[in-house]
Amino acid sequence: MSKSEHVDLETFIEGVEKRNQGQTEFIQAVREVAQDVFSFIEDKEQYHAAQILRRIAEPDRVISFRVCWEDDNHNIRVQRGWRVQNNNAIGPYKGGLRFDASVNESILKFLAFEQTFKNSLTGLPMGGGKGGANFNPKGKSDSEVMRFCQSFMTELYRHIGPDTDVPAGDIGVGSREIGYLFGQYKRITNRWEGVLTGKQLEFGGSQMRPEATGYGAVYFLENMLKHIDEDIDGKTAAISGSGNVATHAAEMMISKGGKVLTLSDSDGFIHDKEGITQEKLDWIKELKQVKRGRIKEYCDEFSDATFHKDKNPWDVECDVVLPCATQNELDEKDAKKLVKNGVMAVAEGANMPTTLEGVHVFKDAQILYGPGKAANAGGVAVSGLEISQNAERLSWDADKLETLLNEIMSDIHDRCTEYGEREDGSVDYVKGANIAGFKKVADAMLAFGVG
Ligand code: NDP
Repeated sequence: MSKSEHVDLETFIEGVEKRNQGQTEFIQAVREVAQDVFSFIEDKEQYHAAQILRRIAEPDRVISFRVCWEDDNHNIRVQRGWRVQNNNAIGPYKGGLRFDASVNESILKFLAFEQTFKNSLTGLPMGGGKGGANFNPKGKSDSEVMRFCQSFMTELYRHIGPDTDVPAGDIGVGSREIGYLFGQYKRITNRWEGVLTGKQLEFGGSQMRPEATGYGAVYFLENMLKHIDEDIDGKTAAISGSGNVATHAAEMMISKGGKVLTLSDSDGFIHDKEGITQEKLDWIKELKQVKRGRIKEYCDEFSDATFHKDKNPWDVECDVVLPCATQNELDEKDAKKLVKNGVMAVAEGANMPTTLEGVHVFKDAQILYGPGKAANAGGVAVSGLEISQNAERLSWDADKLETLLNEIMSDIHDRCTEYGEREDGSVDYVKGANIAGFKKVADAMLAFGVG
């Protein structure tokens, strides 16, 4: 192959910015990966010549569609739905669906791009995708959510399939929504197949899937701490969010002897100096999942705790941090405060919760920093195992799945270490995750030729 002309990093980013105007989250995600990948491929002509990173940063396709539904007052409502199929070099597209008022094409493209690297890191054969709609399920009745999900799937079904694209849940899409979506897929196609993951156990769901992202993030944290001869026992933790990822991260922290001081939602955070025990956490799960209440109600039930309206928990002094709510929830100022207060480790349960500037603060301070694409990959890994169970028409028990999850998180940690170890033995987990995730996808793409 003849030697191609290499563009430098800034020229590459300028091109991404020009082609994706106004898509700030997507550009942010590409920039973060490109910084590391450019240094890795500097002397590797084959990746340059085949324009691999340029191709991964251009989704295979972006499908956008109208979702029309009727609310309980018989008003016709119109939402926009999307599926971004980013890259299927190493397996069928895989990634969650997000229902939230903030959803737009930039956010879904960033999530699908990140998912491509994350799925590669798990070692399982899954490509990267993401989807969702600008529909806010909060405050909607069950019937409204059902009608929306049915309408959404009436379009989505033609773009997905067990060997094509297998969506899952994400913000605003839990087991209730997956049930409605799966029911509609089955009704339309007359096929029972593993087309969605995160299903309930009664119809092909996997043990450990609800727990996997949060538990996995704590296993990843444990691996990072072990690398510096530390452990979780006795460590204080600030966690954001109170959804699926946050509550399960809290649960695993508690079971390993950690003291969880905070949880939050989009109204603010609660601070419990005594620590959130398993009993208190069970109360929160009931509040959020069954009653669909707000986190501030915790302080009515447990009067020692305080609620901090419209604030995030990053002021609270703690040893470790698990941001588990949403993207860009921890900025440079927050990162500086955390470092000043002596935080030793950050493991991201959410996707890209730390801004680029915040990441630099953590990296410069050389604290342990596990980016989402590595630390929260446990969820999609168990989704991958749900696909395997559906294909074999078998259900594996929880112990087996927890062991596999633990092994996968430890393997991801090792992959990050392989490509991210600094000369002094410390690990740049961002660099390690980006390069390890890139290499597998890139080598598959090289094998396929240009296309
Ligand atoms: P949930 O919908 O179960 O919970 C989301 C939580 O984050 C809620 O407490 C929500 O509060 C809070 N939140 C949402 N938006 C904001 C905001 N703008 N500011 C402050 N808090 C906010 O979602 P998940 O727990 O599933 O997902 C959380 C994160 O983890 C997301 O980044 C997701 O992409 C990522 N993730 C999830 C995986 C999974 O398996 N579920 C897998 C890998 C990553 P409120 O109730 O007020 O909306």
